[in-house]
Amino acid sequence: MTQSNDPIIIIGTGLAGYNLAKELRKLDKETPITMITADDGRNYSKPMLSTGFGKNKTADELAMSSAADMAAQLNLTIRTHTHVTALRPDAHEIDLGPETLSYSKLVLAWGAEAIRVPVEGDAQDIVHSVNDLTDYGHFRIAAEGHKRALIMGAGLIGCEFANDMSNGGYDVTVVAPCERIFPTLLPPEAAAAVQVGLESLGVKFHLGPYVSKLERQGDSAVATLSDGTVVETDVVVSAIGLRPRVEMAAAAGLAVNRGIVTNRLLETSAADVYALGDCAEVEGHVLLYVLPLMASARALAKTLTGNPEMVSYGVMPVTVKTPVTPVVVAPPAVGAEGEWTVDGEGLDIQAEFRNKANELLGYALTGAKVVNKVALNKELPAILG
Ligand SMILES: Cc1cc2nc3c(=O)[nH]c(=O)nc-3n(C[C@H](O)[C@H](O)[C@H](O)COP(=O)(O)OP(=O)(O)OC[C@H]3O[C@@H](n4cnc5c(N)ncnc54)[C@H](O)[C@@H]3O)c2cc1C
Repeated sequence: MTQSNDPIIIIGTGLAGYNLAKELRKLDKETPITMITADDGRNYSKPMLSTGFGKNKTADELAMSSAADMAAQLNLTIRTHTHVTALRPDAHEIDLGPETLSYSKLVLAWGAEAIRVPVEGDAQDIVHSVNDLTDYGHFRIAAEGHKRALIMGAGLIGCEFANDMSNGGYDVTVVAPCERIFPTLLPPEAAAAVQVGLESLGVKFHLGPYVSKLERQGDSAVATLSDGTVVETDVVVSAIGLRPRVEMAAAAGLAVNRGIVTNRLLETSAADVYALGDCAEVEGHVLLYVLPLMASARALAKTLTGNPEMVSYGVMPVTVKTPVTPVVVAPPAVGAEGEWTVDGEGLDIQAEFRNKANELLGYALTGAKVVNKVALNKELPAILG
């Protein structure tokens, strides 16, 4: 059972886990903290993973510090390559396989996992999801010396990789079973502006079909699409989407929905268990971006050190890293009522989402129009004020 000197345990050393640990140490230098991570615990900025080919950076070059350096800098214990296998919130314990650890407070910062869809054929080994530094390292090695890349998925990560790999000299084909790129993030005119930009780099799009088969052909592979088209490729990136990790929390009886459900104190439904980052659903918001997790880390550090603070999400536009057509988007909340109006032409689109009272609820800017974000941000309501 829990003792007063049991540590705060943080599961995950991604941006959510490390930012929380840094914020905690600003307020409290001594309370024992143990961090547990399934990976090697290196500190890195995940957004850099979709800029690494253009900048020609290896995984080692993207790593900012080792787990050992982070542990020393933050005066805490980090257990790397260690999987948490079960939560037992009633006992204030977690299982690491056969081992059990007790905690005073537990923080779930274990992120989201890449969604994979089954594809027939004998070339599964050339399909990569790039959702952490280790994935990126493996993918870089697999892509080395090759020229052709097929990207499954035309959302934010798929399009960022299309731009980045193109900058890195690859011949890129994007395949996605949707009518347009960024099907959920951008209105059609803004999506078209990005597609035109990517096409100017030589990126080819097959929108509508999906990859149904992937078969070896010597050193490379042949992808057969559901409309019968055949695409030759050397490597495949699966960028279909991310799903917050909720299974272990649900199995332990915590309330889950799209993410692990928390209130604005980041409290889950279990006493002394908190969640933040990609795994959390904070008052109905699942926001798989850096700014929300940083705001959460600041608030939760105060709560865990005895000064409860509710998290606030201000205006948090997303910058999409497709430099050929710059994009800044502040998506309207899910289910928001209103209409898009679109201005501009070519690569330079300004789309505003307003309700009947003409209040701005979201926007999408591309090309030269991105400079208008400052003015529009002033008009937007906070996401969680
Ligand atoms: C390619 C890419 C580009 C992106 N670009 C941007 C961008 O430009 N701007 C932006 O705002 N956001 C961007 N994002 C999103 C942003 O990077 C994420 O929202 C953020 O990094 C998530 O951090 P996290 O700590 O919640 O999760 P993660 O970084 O996924 O960390 C999860 C941690 O939990 C550990 N873990 C998981 N399960 C277990 C277990 N059972 N036991 C022990 N440990 C476990 C993992 O090992 C890891 O340490 C991008 C994402 C990707 C994939």
